[in-house]
Amino acid sequence: MKILHGIAASRGIATGPAFHFKRVTLTIDTRSCDDTAAEWARLEAALKTAYEQIEAVRAKAERESGAGQAEIFEAQAMMLDDPELLDGVRNAIEQGHINAEAALNTTAEIYAQALAALEDEYLSARAADVRDVANRVLRILMNVADSPTAGLETPSIILANDLAPSDTVLLDKALVLGFCTVLGGATSHTAILARGLGLPAVVGAGENVLNVADGAPLILDGTSGALIVEPDRSTLDDYASRKASAAAIEAQARLHAHEPAITRDGHQVEVVANIGSIEGARAALEAGAEGVGLLRTEFLYMDRPMLPTEEEQYAAYKAIADAFGKLPVVLRTLDIGGDKELPYLEMAPEENPFLGVRAIRLCLPHPELFKPQLRAALRAGVGNNLKLMFPMVATVGEVEQARAVLEECRTELQVEGQASAETEIGIMIEIPAAAVMADRLAEVVDFFSIGTNDLSQYTMAADRTNAQLAALASGFQPAVLRLIQRVIEAAHARGKWVGLCGELAGEPLAIPILLGLGLDEFSMNPPAVPLAKQIIRSLSQEEARGIALQVLNLDSAEQVEAWVREHVPAANLA
Ligand code: PEP
Ligand code: MG
Repeated sequence: MKILHGIAASRGIATGPAFHFKRVTLTIDTRSCDDTAAEWARLEAALKTAYEQIEAVRAKAERESGAGQAEIFEAQAMMLDDPELLDGVRNAIEQGHINAEAALNTTAEIYAQALAALEDEYLSARAADVRDVANRVLRILMNVADSPTAGLETPSIILANDLAPSDTVLLDKALVLGFCTVLGGATSHTAILARGLGLPAVVGAGENVLNVADGAPLILDGTSGALIVEPDRSTLDDYASRKASAAAIEAQARLHAHEPAITRDGHQVEVVANIGSIEGARAALEAGAEGVGLLRTEFLYMDRPMLPTEEEQYAAYKAIADAFGKLPVVLRTLDIGGDKELPYLEMAPEENPFLGVRAIRLCLPHPELFKPQLRAALRAGVGNNLKLMFPMVATVGEVEQARAVLEECRTELQVEGQASAETEIGIMIEIPAAAVMADRLAEVVDFFSIGTNDLSQYTMAADRTNAQLAALASGFQPAVLRLIQRVIEAAHARGKWVGLCGELAGEPLAIPILLGLGLDEFSMNPPAVPLAKQIIRSLSQEEARGIALQVLNLDSAEQVEAWVREHVPAANLA
């Protein structure tokens, strides 16, 4: 038995075999071939297999995500028949006497580059599709596994060097019990996705993760942050009983999940969810969330080859907002950059992406990106309780500029005779400058939502994805808690409400502190909702104020967590 220690990224215990996530890179050699007819026949056979694979993916997308996603694969299937592309490949084989792989690779790349150079945005985005389809055919020709999880047939614990958010989105959830990565931090977006899915996860567990044999029996403890390789009998028994008692606590909380979160002295707060998909909306409602405090719109667009049109965005936002009826849904505008990239948005490489042109800084100078989203949101908000929120605001001027673009969209819609909603407008407080300027910012918005994932990394100058800095980048740092206190006071003094949608809001040990600081809305991954409500109900606000006062005077995140663990048994669920 061997134990690897990492960062507890998503609570829960999983038991199952190891499966390594393998990223494949293709190396294409050019060979000279005399039998060109045989090469062409190989290619035709590969095209046929590719067609069958794409058709299967299309059917899956249609079942799971609806017609919009399925169309992408229909378009890909059509490319397999594209006369221009195929004539080019045939010529390369017959006249160049080269192998099918080299002929396809070169021709498809020329074709993709020609598309990418077109003015028409739709056509230029097809370049990614051409490359994707060509890669699929190349993998078939070369007999290389078609995905990093090819061969994953039994439910397993995924081991990887790192997982990008887009990898996580694409994992087949039915076959994934949890995951453990060499790299990563507790508030990296991959960890956040795992929590949203209720998948136990450990990140930053070090290089030894890669030495675990495929199929080795494992216990993944996402609550304490450990991966146990080949556990012995007594460890297995111990974890089986821990799993059973955690399940009993969860089950008890779920019994009351749909009741409001009111403290023992009658103070009610909102408990809402962070979501990034329609499935997330369903999970949030089932878990008893009283709305959505953060809709990460960028997550809606990670598993597709191009940016959605205004109509597609409208349909997605409307479906989500309508699912919640009169309950609030806070839609955050695109927050691309940092560790969230969209494969089809070509962004110039930056030295420090977390300090770079991300989120509102990317949207403001790109109205072609920003306006369709704002128009879609304004249209989707009619007849429900949609609110809009801008991410990564650092200055009052940015809010003014964003509001001006929003007004432009509203006017355009009016001229076109389309209805638009009168939505509340809020901002994320996730840059220390915004926390410091909260009094001024509260004058120009309707609400704040504190993003402690970024606020902690920027306040502590500690990258949220760096495993070695996990303790520093924690939202339990007294410096971060003091900023939260300041933001809530500044907003309340101006009659504005404050939510918190960083991972801290769903942390059992943080809930009493945030309640004591006067937070109005707690937004978290859906599976965390029932327990959060239970903790809030177990406390009085008076008591919570006392807790907040105590911990604000401590010196470190470790001391804060230890203090709550010792003094607030209802929040100590580890
Ligand atoms: C945050 O920074 O706390 C937040 C909620 O936004 P994201 O995690 O998407 O950066
Ligand atoms: Mg953020």
